[in-house]
Amino acid sequence: MTDPVPFEAELFERIHWLIRLRWFAVLGTGLALLVAWLWFPDGLPWLPLASVTAAIVLYNTLFLRYAHRLERTHPEIPRLRQASRLALTQIILDFFALATLIHFSGGVENPLALFFVFHTIIASILLSRRASYGLAILGSALFAAIAGLEYWRLVPHHHLPILGSIELYRNGPYLLVVIGAMAITLCLVAYMTSSITIRLRERDRALVESNQTILAKSQELTAANERLRQIDAERTRFMVLVTHELRAPINTIYSCLDAVLTGSIPPETGRDLLERARQRAIELTELVSDLLRLTRVREEAVRQEELGLVQVDAELNQVVELMKVEANKKGLSLIVDVEPDLAPVRANAERVKMIWTNLVSNAIRYSQPGGVITVTLRQTPTHLVGAVRDTGIGIPAEDRGRIFEEFYRAENARTMSPTGTGVGLAIVRRILENYGGRIEVESELGQGSTFTFFLPKADG
Ligand code: ADP
Repeated sequence: MTDPVPFEAELFERIHWLIRLRWFAVLGTGLALLVAWLWFPDGLPWLPLASVTAAIVLYNTLFLRYAHRLERTHPEIPRLRQASRLALTQIILDFFALATLIHFSGGVENPLALFFVFHTIIASILLSRRASYGLAILGSALFAAIAGLEYWRLVPHHHLPILGSIELYRNGPYLLVVIGAMAITLCLVAYMTSSITIRLRERDRALVESNQTILAKSQELTAANERLRQIDAERTRFMVLVTHELRAPINTIYSCLDAVLTGSIPPETGRDLLERARQRAIELTELVSDLLRLTRVREEAVRQEELGLVQVDAELNQVVELMKVEANKKGLSLIVDVEPDLAPVRANAERVKMIWTNLVSNAIRYSQPGGVITVTLRQTPTHLVGAVRDTGIGIPAEDRGRIFEEFYRAENARTMSPTGTGVGLAIVRRILENYGGRIEVESELGQGSTFTFFLPKADG
């Protein structure tokens, strides 16, 4: 449901305005009757005239109470429908009240018959075009009815004293002209007023719509801004982590060199310290290389047109070829099980190789001699599914959710292999996300781990 446009929202206000207007009309009628009565005490049928005025007071009071009650009820839309009906009923009653007042005060000879025009204008502002034409016809018909009934003496004519001896109500041609003029005036007024009102309502509606569009756009901008803020915060966090990780090996290297240079230690210890510094420098280089790779895949805007068709099994074969030696050296068996006729993926071959290298080298690093590493690759209708299973140290349950974060390393991994960087899996996750894939891990502490990744097929 859309928000009510201003016209609908204002309908209630206008109903109150109509009711207020009617109080003024009652006051005006009362005063006019009083003045007329003082001038011509026997001139008009005062009782019926006063009764009609009282009837207007009565129905206006009832309408006021009903409008208040409607405002308190829900929901919005039926309430609006009732409000339109309320406005229509009021105006119809006004037409009848005016017709009766005019009949008892000179009929067609009373120039105040022009008040039918006001009612038609009000109807055209408040109601639909159909309703305004309907009411214009009703006004004309009531006016014609007064004229006809009085002309044929079906009801008595009440002469206006100020007209003296002039009697127009029996003048056929005059009646025809005046009824015609009234009908044309009322229909034209209905047409003109409702045309203007419809245009104004359309403009209101357009304004509300463009306001809503602007609001939606500004919400989009706020969301984009929030995303940028998050990216910025993420980048800062990353910078802090990187600085922290770089600082530790640099500090070690610095203190080793410092100890050697001050010459306060025996030469054998000096050599040990230099060896340690060299080792830390190697680790540092490794960390910097990993960081470079991570930064590249983090910032990589994947443009479909720049990607090629990659056979994931071919990349795996190359990686296995390289890793086989290392696995054998550690006394591990490396089993590879690849489904035939695999579909290609849309990717960069180097990145796919990076996925395999990181997963297989982790499996080797975190397995004890004698372990078995099983690499499988199969396909589903939409994805290629690669898995690397090992029988190694496993991942503690509390660390499983965090190992894909940059620099995060589980305690058991730190103990077994102090030199890791904690960046490999972050690279793997980022590459997969860039290609619309994902990675999962299952692990049992002390039993082994299985990393499974999903890459969308090129045609999938
Ligand atoms: P690194 O191996 O250099 O520490 P990674 O990002 O590759 O960094 O891995 C993050 C962490 O995930 C590791 O430190 C380790 O705790 C855990 N991990 C990854 N692969 C394995 C595995 N095959 N077996 C056990 N733990 C693993």
